[in-house]
Amino acid sequence: MTMLPETPSVKLGLVIDLDTCVGCHACAVNCKSWNTGGYGAPLSDLDAYGSNPDGSWLNRIHTFEVTPDEGKAQLVHFPKSCLHCDDAPCVTVCPTGASYKRAEDGIVLVNEDHCMGCGLCAWACPYGARELDGDAGVMKKCTLCVDRIYNENLPEEDREPACVRACPARARHFGDLADPNSAVSKLVAERGGMDLMPGQGTKPVNKYLPPRPRRESNTGATAAGAVTAERPPNPEGGILGWLDRALESLG
Ligand code: SF4
Ligand code: SF4
Ligand code: SF4
Repeated sequence: MTMLPETPSVKLGLVIDLDTCVGCHACAVNCKSWNTGGYGAPLSDLDAYGSNPDGSWLNRIHTFEVTPDEGKAQLVHFPKSCLHCDDAPCVTVCPTGASYKRAEDGIVLVNEDHCMGCGLCAWACPYGARELDGDAGVMKKCTLCVDRIYNENLPEEDREPACVRACPARARHFGDLADPNSAVSKLVAERGGMDLMPGQGTKPVNKYLPPRPRRESNTGATAAGAVTAERPPNPEGGILGWLDRALESLG
């Protein structure tokens, strides 16, 4: 069993704004592009043009149609990658020590030299954030682009995760969630940023910002209706509560 570090004093992570994400997949494509040639072994694409295409994507966008109690159905775009959890079950379940969480910045990584592809970490992750690379036979996941964010060979503006760099809607933000004065922490505080599936006890570092209430349309109903309404009264309520239930039913 792999041990988790004491709570890191720096917790790098993402804040994703579900209000402004338009589901364009630019973040997923740039993630794939960077990680295919970047950190670790390339990301596989198997039978890409055949009848059963398969491949490793470390960031995926799920789109749901949500029907409020009143008003029209609405599409919700939900980007999902590793949340770099503080209490990461994918780390503690790993029998070889390949899966680990860095003490210095909280990033959860896989040492591919030690991974035997047993899949236990994928089984333990409640978010489906790990991908077994069928080509390389090892587990892969979001690295927060650890090879970009500290890379002094890159221009300073490029030292952020590829998904954040690509997002045309500026729905993705990167920073230190352990620092209450960081821009991401202030955003979480202002917008009521939430954990995904808090009942799982994984304490994700990444946060999601719920959709903001819409202006009234000429019918008098809010455009997003009961989906957005007010800040959810409890962690199981609102759009993220709905997403939690949807993801759990998939699991
Ligand atoms: S999201 Fe999944 S893979 Fe990432 S740290 Fe949490 S449990 Fe592990
Ligand atoms: S697949 Fe690799 S990283 Fe995951 S539990 Fe097995 S050895 Fe550890
Ligand atoms: S690039 Fe931005 S807007 Fe497009 S799917 Fe990703 S998070 Fe959403």
